[in-house]
Amino acid sequence: MSCAVARWPVPDAVERFSGGRGQPEQAVITVRIPTPEQIEMIECQNVLLEGATAEEVLAWAVETYYPRFSMATALGPEGCVIISMLAKIEPRVYVFNLDTGYQFHETLELRQRIAERYGVIVNLQRPDLGVEAYEAVHGGPLYKTDPDKCCFDRKVRVLERVAKNFDAWATGIRRDQSPTRANTPIVRWDKKFGLVKISPLATWTKNDVWRRILAEDIPYNPLHDQGYASIGCRPCTRAVSSGEDERAGRWTGTAKTECGLHTSNE
Ligand code: SF4
Repeated sequence: MSCAVARWPVPDAVERFSGGRGQPEQAVITVRIPTPEQIEMIECQNVLLEGATAEEVLAWAVETYYPRFSMATALGPEGCVIISMLAKIEPRVYVFNLDTGYQFHETLELRQRIAERYGVIVNLQRPDLGVEAYEAVHGGPLYKTDPDKCCFDRKVRVLERVAKNFDAWATGIRRDQSPTRANTPIVRWDKKFGLVKISPLATWTKNDVWRRILAEDIPYNPLHDQGYASIGCRPCTRAVSSGEDERAGRWTGTAKTECGLHTSNE
């Protein structure tokens, strides 16, 4: 199989209604839409990369999209592994963190250790309103009463803003993290944010990630040594017990399992 590279010219922007869970009715998102030929090329590339190593996937992404290639990270173990790879492949890739204002201080300290170790700056991308102003507008912390809207305002909206500057982004999601991530392709068109989404660790297991971290002494969040499996914002994350699902510590007591960044690609 041969695949032409799915480069842009970027398609015309379109306005698209964004409703549904966690997405306020009044929200209108402006996203790019690809041509059918571009979709076909992306799907073709996905097939070609299914058996590639994570480093090969990232090298392809850099070659194809850099400097309009970015990486989003919550500074979880997967993100730290990808940063260690990018440091060798192309350390100038724009890496960013959605800094909601509610993150653990351990997470922000890890950002500093990553910079010292790899020279890679994880740029903090923040919502327009700081935590104090945001809670004042909503009469208190919205994560207690409407976490979907809180995630939408403090993560999804911010990613929309960043995504407009790039043609592709990488994430650290893995197929074995949860049923909702089980079919994650290596490369796909991200309809929600209007750019190509690349998941170089999609085929990795949790053990693969930790083997790499330990083998290369990659910095990681010390909260993982205290039982935190998946780490998001402080108010919405707890440690998990042995045998619990990896993401069971996120939004405990609610039906919510995702923040909205990796859902709804239909
Ligand atoms: Fe708000 Fe919790 Fe979502 Fe963070 S994880 S943005 S605190 S609802």
